[in-house]
Amino acid sequence: MTPKLTFHGAAGCVTGFCALLETDHARVLIDCGMFQGSKTLKSLNYGDFPFRAGSIDAVLLTHAHIDHSGLLPKLMKAGFAGPIHATAGTRDLCEIMLADSGGIQEGEVRQLNRRNQRRGRAEVKAIYTERDARRCMDQFSKVKLGQPVEVAPGVTATYWEAGHILGSASIEVKIETADGPKTLFFSGDLGPGGRDYAPDPQGPAGVDYLIMESTYGDRERLTLGGDARRALLAKEMNDAYGAGGPLLIPAFAVERSQELLADLLTLMEERQVPQADIFLDSPLAIEATEIFQQRGWNRATKTNPFEDLRHAGRLKFLREPGESDHLETLRGWHVIIAASGMCDAGRVRKHLKRLLWRRQATVLLSGYQAGGTLGRILQEGAERVSIQGEDIQVRARVRSLDVYSGHADAAGLVAWARQRLPVAGGVFLAHGEPAALEGLKARLTGAGLPADRITIPSMDQGFDLAAAGPLAQSTGARRIAPDAAARADWHNARAQLLMTLNQELEAAPDDRTRERLIARLAGALGSPPEPQAAPARNAVQPAT
Ligand SMILES: [Zn+2]
Repeated sequence: MTPKLTFHGAAGCVTGFCALLETDHARVLIDCGMFQGSKTLKSLNYGDFPFRAGSIDAVLLTHAHIDHSGLLPKLMKAGFAGPIHATAGTRDLCEIMLADSGGIQEGEVRQLNRRNQRRGRAEVKAIYTERDARRCMDQFSKVKLGQPVEVAPGVTATYWEAGHILGSASIEVKIETADGPKTLFFSGDLGPGGRDYAPDPQGPAGVDYLIMESTYGDRERLTLGGDARRALLAKEMNDAYGAGGPLLIPAFAVERSQELLADLLTLMEERQVPQADIFLDSPLAIEATEIFQQRGWNRATKTNPFEDLRHAGRLKFLREPGESDHLETLRGWHVIIAASGMCDAGRVRKHLKRLLWRRQATVLLSGYQAGGTLGRILQEGAERVSIQGEDIQVRARVRSLDVYSGHADAAGLVAWARQRLPVAGGVFLAHGEPAALEGLKARLTGAGLPADRITIPSMDQGFDLAAAGPLAQSTGARRIAPDAAARADWHNARAQLLMTLNQELEAAPDDRTRERLIARLAGALGSPPEPQAAPARNAVQPAT
């Protein structure tokens, strides 16, 4: 058969990367990520895999981020029994990140089941539990950068430095076909290079197919050295201090949190910012910090910038939920770093709920905010947001600092792709929102890659890797509409509509106006209420 490559995630969006490579003798998965963002996208985490898990020979894992690794325990539960090939750093991070993710799944389902019980609905089960996640670690097999491993009959993988987070790799996959050997190179997520905290990405030249991430495909970003980056952070911190309130930094627990801590401590040591207690309010980030202390050695700079993090007096690690709740009583100037970075899960939501309405507080977004997430909604300047069903006014200063990104920008991606030339078969662009994917395609075409060889796959779309270039297959079931991956969905729209309605009702001059507005809306829904009717026995009583 002609080898086939199918994109089961991060196609037309930035989360859930998962690609299935099929040859005559092997079926190999590259990453098995969890979907994040809109509820439409997240619902894919609960459904069946669009392939038979038991038929997969091996998984090649680029890095530990949950949007690349998060469905591995589910894959195991569905019957996958083969090895998961990953670097030592990725393995160690997965051990804590997957267990954490299992705990989150269990917690969310517990909450949902309490609601379902009250509504008389059936119970649902967690996608996987913390125990499943720990069991899944037995399937990990360590690989070293630069050393080819035969991962399945006729399939050899070589891992290359990706410079994105600790342990991250791009993966070169050689397959045997009827037309001779073919090489595919999967970028994974690519670092921007030139950072003091991570090495530069590497890779081979001359491949048949290039599969690359496109997160920042339409944008150039400032790439700064340590001092310039810290100067921007110092400005944000000084402004936040000037505003009088605490500084809340929603941050990814792994890598971003450690980099921010190291920079904040340096700035305080150099007296460039006011001294502050810094609360790291994320058990996962605390565990990750230990791994960075062991494995954070940077071969290029021959230092480990994270070595001393755990001994700094101003740093407080909050493991227990009670310690986290205690922050509510704290007044005055302090800094809180809490996950998740895109504000759609974790302890950060609790802090946003109690700080967003305060003018003195500053919320500093420190990385990419995917479409449909609370982080993106805040970044776009929403005046009110809904968090866990509560309607909250945004009066805090919301700021973005994009110099901590672990992703290459558009110029970096193009430079990386050029170093892979010649690319004989074609380029697939994944892991980007539509504008980024189109932006990168245009830039690559401008850099000399033929446009007809650059493909933007949609969710669940498969391709024959034919000698004349990739051919889209007409078959295969689609789980969601091709354009549904990256946009806000009806759940976002409903939350927005309910907030607008509440605002209008509050702003109305009197109760008669409010009743008329409700009657008009009910009429539009085809169920005009009888304004003077006595309340029905089961009617909802207004809150007092
Ligand atoms: Zn990543």
